[in-house]
This record gives sequence, structure tokens and C-alpha cells, in this order.
Amino acid sequence: MLRLEGATLNYGAFRALDAVNLHVGKGELVVLLGANGAGKSSLFLAISGLRKLASGSIRFEDTELRGRKPSRIVEAGVVHCPEGRKLFPDMSVRKNLILGGYVHRHDGKGTRHLLDHVFAMFPILHARRDLPAGSLSGGQQQMVAIGRALMGRPRVLMLDEPSLGLAPLIVKQVLEAVKAINETGTTVLLAEQNAYAALQIAHRAYVMESGRIVMEGDRDTLLADERIRKAYIGA
Ligand code: ATP
Repeated sequence: MLRLEGATLNYGAFRALDAVNLHVGKGELVVLLGANGAGKSSLFLAISGLRKLASGSIRFEDTELRGRKPSRIVEAGVVHCPEGRKLFPDMSVRKNLILGGYVHRHDGKGTRHLLDHVFAMFPILHARRDLPAGSLSGGQQQMVAIGRALMGRPRVLMLDEPSLGLAPLIVKQVLEAVKAINETGTTVLLAEQNAYAALQIAHRAYVMESGRIVMEGDRDTLLADERIRKAYIGA
């Protein structure tokens, strides 16, 4: 469904992505593992059209995404939930969510229907819908960020470290929500440093180091791999 070939991205003289090949099949939940600075966010920014590739291609089904405007990429069905949530803290939870459906703003009925769906998925957001998003707990803000991405009607949902800074119990809840989203038919690409928890819900995973894919495999292969256990999971 989504296929990157030879994706290369530079920040000046620094190469953040070095000929990355990666694919995500329809209905899959694929995890991208890697330490701080490995290039996970850069990969998502490139797919979203927010950073320009120096070379390579990003195909979504039959469409080349490279060179497209970010809004057109969302319209095509590739939606990015960024690292650090990036909410508008002074705006209400409801308005933050509605903004996620901006490219579909002419379809008011669809937006209302989706908003109900997000509130059903995260009932606490319905209870807090009129509060400023910035007043919510970290876990609840992450739910707003995921809900906002769902409002963009993703066919491929890219989640950049949704567990960052959250307590272990909340991480579990967030990853369960991600799994549920995948099980209802949305393809997911999930970047995580929390390797063990992420691999529990993944079908396949890639490991990134210094802008390169250094390993790929299905969940069980990576969970059993000695190098992965040492570098990302611990004992
Ligand atoms: P993190 O979890 O810390 O965000 P990451 O795997 O997402 O890590 P990136 O944010 O993609 O990694 O960063 C990859 C490399 O590119 C890092 O060395 C980072 O310092 C560098 N980098 C990121 N953004 C820029 C930028 N705008 N200008 C220059 N270098 C950058």
C-alpha cells in the first residue's frame, strides 16, 4: 500500500535518511524501531511532504507522493500524528479534533459522524470536549492527537512515538487503542522507542539506525533476535 524506495533526505550536509526501502501492506501494523536521532521522524515528515527527499520515491498505491503538497497527501489518505502531539493547547478538545478533518471540511455530515466515532473510542474526550486541550493529562492529550489524525480519514495512519513521556499504564492504553484502530481496517505505521510494547501489537517491524534500515522481520523474529533484545528491549 505504501512503498518507499531509496528514500534519501539531507539536512544540509547531514544525511538523515540514507536510501531507505520500506513497505507497508494493506491492513498491516508495522513498527519502526530506533533510538533517538535514528531518523524515524524524518521518515514520517518526508512521507507527509513536510520535508523534501533528495532522491527516491514514496508510492501510495498507484500514486507518487513525492513532490505533493502535504494537504494533498492527507487527502489521499496518509495521515501523520506527530511526535510531541502538537495540539493547539488553548483551543478546546473538540476544535482540535475538528481541525484534523480540515481537508474534508466540505463534508460536514461525515465530520460529525467521525467526531462521534472518536468520542465513542475515547469517552473521556467527550466528557472534556469543551476544555482547552492543554489542560488535559499527557495520556488524554495523546488521545486527542490520535483522534485528530483519525478525523483526517486515514487509510494509512502514521504515529510518531505516541507513548513518549507517558506512564506505563497509559502507554498500554494508548497502544491498545492503536491496535484497535488497526483491527478496524486502518493500516498503521508506528514509530516507537518502546520496542517491547510496540512489538506486542505489530505484525512486522523495521529497525533504523543512523538513517538506515538495518533489520526487518516479523514480530516473533525480532522479539527473539539477540541483537534486538540487547539494544532495544533489555533482559
Ligand atoms: P527522535 O526520537 O529523537 O525524534 P528520530 O529517530 O525521530 O529521533 P529524527 O528526528 O528524524 O530522528 O532525526 C534524525 C537526525 O536528523 C538526528 O541526528 C537529528 O539531530 C537530525 N535532524 C532532525 N531534524 C533536523 C533539522 N531540521 N536540521 C538538522 N538536523 C536535523
